[in-house]
Amino acid sequence: REGALLEDDGHIVVGTAGHVDHGKSTLVGSLVTGRPDDGEGGTRSFLDVQPHEVERGLSADLSYAVYGFAEGEPVRTDNPDRKADRAAVVESADKLISFVDTVGHEPWLRTTIRGLVGQKLDYGLLTVAADDGPTKTTREHLGVLLATELPTMVAITKADMVDGERALEVEREVERLLRDVGQTPLRVERHGVDTAVEEIGGSVVPVLRTSAVTMDGLDTLDDLFERLPKTGDSTGEFSMYVDRSYKITGVGAVASGTVRSGTVEAGDELLLGPFPDGSFRDVEARSIEMHYHRVDRAKAGRIVGIALKGVREADVERGMVLLPREAEPEPVREFEAEVMVLNHPTRIDDGYEPVVHLETVSEAAAFHPAEGQLLPGDTGQTTVRFKFRPYLVEEGQRFVFREGQSKGVGTVTDVTS
Ligand code: GDP
Repeated sequence: REGALLEDDGHIVVGTAGHVDHGKSTLVGSLVTGRPDDGEGGTRSFLDVQPHEVERGLSADLSYAVYGFAEGEPVRTDNPDRKADRAAVVESADKLISFVDTVGHEPWLRTTIRGLVGQKLDYGLLTVAADDGPTKTTREHLGVLLATELPTMVAITKADMVDGERALEVEREVERLLRDVGQTPLRVERHGVDTAVEEIGGSVVPVLRTSAVTMDGLDTLDDLFERLPKTGDSTGEFSMYVDRSYKITGVGAVASGTVRSGTVEAGDELLLGPFPDGSFRDVEARSIEMHYHRVDRAKAGRIVGIALKGVREADVERGMVLLPREAEPEPVREFEAEVMVLNHPTRIDDGYEPVVHLETVSEAAAFHPAEGQLLPGDTGQTTVRFKFRPYLVEEGQRFVFREGQSKGVGTVTDVTS
């Protein structure tokens, strides 16, 4: 049974963000297992596992956790590390919630950005620990979540570690932070889950208190996830930006990522590229897996691994796209964009060269601002030129540009140059 995976509204993908140690992995762990944390991260481990430590299936990205609902009741897994347990959740749920962990450590922030921009996420979940309160990282992550237009909610975590007064203080700090960036905070405890579901997105950000130790607030989160609708768009032609590639003995090259639009079926004839010279190659989708579960087809928003016939693993790179065979993609070295400089100490001059993160592409690119320069806080037009090779870029796509830290965000306005 693959109902939830195939239904349009059956599978929502939540991107988690937050300062390191603010309880993100533990919260997700307690949600998917239904078990309280022992205060030492006992339910957390599966989100922190490194790739080499885990036996790989087709859907290799290990930062994913999943739980679901069947007829409104939670379907959880005792051991989210075990493929069979995850597959069992997928099989029995009629609604699935996948979490893409976007790890808050600064060295990992690239992953965060890639997670947020490169995955077709439905919602953002930002954690703020009740003892520490919001930090610089919290602010940065919030900025990126909002810049990518992800309907976002904030979980204040570790409520058991503080008294009521401190909890209230942190709640106010979070609300102030949200208002600073033009959002309207909505306390879920006060306004209810239905209101939160109705109002989330736009500029409303639900905020709720949780503890993975006492499990306070987790029922409310369950309710929220059970009711939140899918936000993605599964119409149109199939496309998927490749997030990772790897090799499985006996299967060959596998490309993983999130289906961006349309539907892909096992056996589909596809195009893969662009290669560095701008060309595309014919490939075939040999088989498809979601959460270690073999499926016949996958729609937009689904995180999948697609085994590819017709290409060697070494040739498949992050940032490439899979498209239908009849597509006529026109990759570009250069595009026009409107960018907003969020965080840069000096003005940005012609020739500025940050790393651009667009879909799953992470590549050095030169900026040539229309006005010759961009000032911190400015919004302006610029030509963006990839340093090394072309990529497939479309109007309306959003990107983040970084230089060690996130410096700003942009939207592609023209690719005809
Ligand atoms: P992450 O880096 O944001 O994923 O944070 P973790 O989930 O790894 O949590 C960091 C530490 O905080 C771990 O030792 C957890 O056991 C602890 N922790 C997480 N959530 C809670 C909570 O609700 N209450 C208490 N007391 N500790 C928590």
